[in-house]
Amino acid sequence: MSVYFVSDLHLKPERPDLSRAFSYFLNSTAQNASELYLLGDIFEAWIGDDAPTPGLEEVLTELKNLSDNGCKIYFQHGNRDFLVGEQFCKTIGAELLPEQIVLSLPVGDAVILHGDQLCTDDTEYMQFRGLVRNPAWQKNFLSKSLEERLAIARQLRDTSKQRTTEKSEYITDVNTDAVTQTLAESGVNLMIHGHTHRPAIHKLEDATRIVLGDWDKQGWYLKVDDSGYDLVSFEID
Ligand code: MN
Repeated sequence: MSVYFVSDLHLKPERPDLSRAFSYFLNSTAQNASELYLLGDIFEAWIGDDAPTPGLEEVLTELKNLSDNGCKIYFQHGNRDFLVGEQFCKTIGAELLPEQIVLSLPVGDAVILHGDQLCTDDTEYMQFRGLVRNPAWQKNFLSKSLEERLAIARQLRDTSKQRTTEKSEYITDVNTDAVTQTLAESGVNLMIHGHTHRPAIHKLEDATRIVLGDWDKQGWYLKVDDSGYDLVSFEID
């Protein structure tokens, strides 16, 4: 049983190289997967399952094929694609997971999450997160026309980009207390998340925190099987 994890691909029409790399990953490495976890920010933006997805057709078909061939695919929301819904997940044969969940893996139990919820030092972001994860806000947003949604999304993104540049490295990384607390509440000693774009395997006092990498010049995935875990990177060209 091989379980694969990816996050933070940030797929968008302007980066066909990333979609190609993901296609390649799905047609090669992921063919050995019994389970594939998409841990958020697979898409750079998502304004509703009814919006067109230019440049992603191939990748979405390949995800569906992988699922049809017996690989279980799971999707967790990131801070950019948190509006991915059940309808979309159905089209790629994926199951939508809650924002934090404990899995039973060949190496033991692990808590998995996108990771933005661990960045509690960024109080401004946490406030924003509270707003946009509110079902009432989402319902209202999704009731607007595609044009209106695009405009709002663009505005939110510009503001966030500007603020992130002003923030220190420390503020945009995970808060260690939030990590400790999440591990304790979950009753596990392994955590897997993405979001921070700081891929690493952190050995904590009595736990391990694996951070997935974002896809840019390099792609990243985590493979977990009976022999252990392996955080792998590869060139994207
Ligand atoms: Mn993220």
